[in-house]
Amino acid sequence: MRNIVVLTGAGVSAESGVATFRGPDGLWEGHRVEDVATPHAFERDPALVHAFYDARRAKLGTVEPNGAHAALARLDAEWPGELLIVTQNVDDLHERAGTKRLLHMHGELKKGWCLACGERFPWDGPMGENSLNAVRPEPVEGLSFFSNEQRKSSPSTMTKTDHPPDGPGLSSSGRTDVRGTSVRTSSGRTEVGICEAVNICPSCNAVGRVRPDIVWFGEMPYAMERIDEALMRCDLFVSIGTSGAVYPAAGFVQTARYCGAHCVEINLEPSLGSYFFHESRIGKAGELVPQWVDEVLAA
Ligand code: NAD
Repeated sequence: MRNIVVLTGAGVSAESGVATFRGPDGLWEGHRVEDVATPHAFERDPALVHAFYDARRAKLGTVEPNGAHAALARLDAEWPGELLIVTQNVDDLHERAGTKRLLHMHGELKKGWCLACGERFPWDGPMGENSLNAVRPEPVEGLSFFSNEQRKSSPSTMTKTDHPPDGPGLSSSGRTDVRGTSVRTSSGRTEVGICEAVNICPSCNAVGRVRPDIVWFGEMPYAMERIDEALMRCDLFVSIGTSGAVYPAAGFVQTARYCGAHCVEINLEPSLGSYFFHESRIGKAGELVPQWVDEVLAA
């Protein structure tokens, strides 16, 4: 056996303390998926969507890879044949465990995507305005914030020319800025104010045009061609910690099986497509994945 494809989902990060997609209440961290994980949700309420992903990104700083991530990194380091680890997860726990042959099909929390210039780049820290409450300077007597009317121009509708009058600075990775600036009000009077906090594209300098580099429902996952090729060539397909509810990932087992691969699932409970797998190992990823990797490397 030479070629392996591993698919991982939210369950592989659960023991690290990252919440899975659908909790017992059917919500993701208290939110309906339609409200935070669709392009329409972002158009309707960019502040809410940014706040949601800002909180998920901040959470990454408080969690560590678990035994399942470590075992997959060991498989990556020691498996002499072809290997592709495809993750639906947007966290960075696989790479922090040391995995190299990795593909994030649903994007990454720690990347931004500029809607003005199309560039994608690393992003640390918050991306949206709500998250800036913690760092917003105390209002200074005599200074004013943007008017309500100016606030209404949401980050998602701002354009490249919406730089604050004193111009944003360039940076090699993304950031969100709060800067003092002069603001021309509707009365035509120039007031000194504290600019609305908005993200700035490190590539083209556009203000408020960076969105999380996350594949939302209704958008095309990344690298599908490469994944399909690997699925068609693999001898072993292993699905770990995924419910089998989100397509196209839920259909990978069918492609792999049709093309002759042995198919194994490792999950806390049988997934929705459990009957497509030759083998189901039911239990915690942190315990079962290291055992499975030992078996594969010893075979
Ligand atoms: P899901 O939440 O639909 O399913 C998770 C599965 O993992 C469930 O079947 C559950 O029984 C199982 N599970 C829970 N704890 C486990 C454990 N300790 N060991 C083994 N299995 C365990 O997740 P999904 O199928 O990956 O679909 C999720 C979508 O949500 C993806 O698009 C993903 O981008 C996004 N998401 C990502 C993260 C993350 O990056 N960590 C977290 C939540 C959601």
